[in-house]
Amino acid sequence: MTASEPVPISRTGARVERLPLARYTTLGVGGEAEVWFVSTHEQLAEAMSQPYRILGGGSNLVIADEGLRERVIRLTGPLAEADLEPDPALSTPDQIITGWVGGGVPLPGLIRKLQKLGWSNLEGTVGIPAQVGGAVWMNAGTRYGEMFDGLHTLEIVTPEGTRQVTPDDLKWGYRDSGIPRNHIVSRVRLKLRPSTPDAVLDAMNFADNARKGQPKMKTPGCAFKNPGGVSAGKLIDEAGLKGLRAGNAMIAPEHANFIVNLGGATSADVHALLDAIRSRVPVPMELEYELWPEQHGLEQA
Ligand SMILES: Cc1cc2nc3c(=O)[nH]c(=O)nc-3n(C[C@H](O)[C@H](O)[C@H](O)COP(=O)(O)OP(=O)(O)OC[C@H]3O[C@@H](n4cnc5c(N)ncnc54)[C@H](O)[C@@H]3O)c2cc1C
Repeated sequence: MTASEPVPISRTGARVERLPLARYTTLGVGGEAEVWFVSTHEQLAEAMSQPYRILGGGSNLVIADEGLRERVIRLTGPLAEADLEPDPALSTPDQIITGWVGGGVPLPGLIRKLQKLGWSNLEGTVGIPAQVGGAVWMNAGTRYGEMFDGLHTLEIVTPEGTRQVTPDDLKWGYRDSGIPRNHIVSRVRLKLRPSTPDAVLDAMNFADNARKGQPKMKTPGCAFKNPGGVSAGKLIDEAGLKGLRAGNAMIAPEHANFIVNLGGATSADVHALLDAIRSRVPVPMELEYELWPEQHGLEQA
């Protein structure tokens, strides 16, 4: 299949297209793969019958220029919609339990809707450019709050079937849901606390303030975890690497722990910068974002 041929539909009705993954990542880098756009559980089961990867907002990924051999699943349709109607059987005056929110729902828009409703618990995740499923999978968050602050039930799909769990059923922790890789977070019910739109907005603005120094260009977020509590950005800066370029990628002058795409960068450019950082910073640092496919010999999340 090439990008110009008519779009095939799978047996269960999923749209299947060979597409450049660069358009689905915040870094804007990545070669082609067969992308399965799935909107039902039946389509998910079919898509998962061959080797696959689940792609969310692509905000924590560096995908190789050569693309991927596995099919890539994207959640669409009802799996990317949010039913925020409080469930009367589960909600109380102090706690709102929503209907199902699809794993493919963009997190920033959801957070804005919750603010307008005056519902609290997830405002600390403001500014994270993820989808709900990806953010839940890694319990994304900031020092002001994380995804598991607002989860009631999670629906998880594996090639063996679908199950519903609560956070208590999982060994979740810091930036970790405890859900194995490639188990798909298809939908969640949120657990929220009634507040006011103004109070939620104030909390969001406070959390968002911490992002002031972050670059505005295409990026997959922070490159390295802080080793032993020391700022990775500070270490990279002290090694004199701010502003270093490789092809069309650059270590951001605003914040040394961000690699940005100046326009037309390749994954090879990004890897050249990662190699420069590893060889010039004296402390070993673990990669924050994921490399697809995985690079053997490199430590990563
Ligand atoms: C500008 C910027 C700022 C950021 N700030 C923060 C921050 O403050 N805090 C923070 O924690 N992160 C931050 N990040 C990193 C990133 O947004 C998070 O790691 C986020 O959780 C990734 O979610 P995603 O949907 O984009 O997942 P992807 O990048 O698409 O995928 C990441 C991983 O999640 C898996 N995944 C995706 N969807 C699902 C699903 N439905 N079910 C199961 N697994 C899934 C993928 O297979 C992959 O393993 C930032 C990134 C950027 C670019």
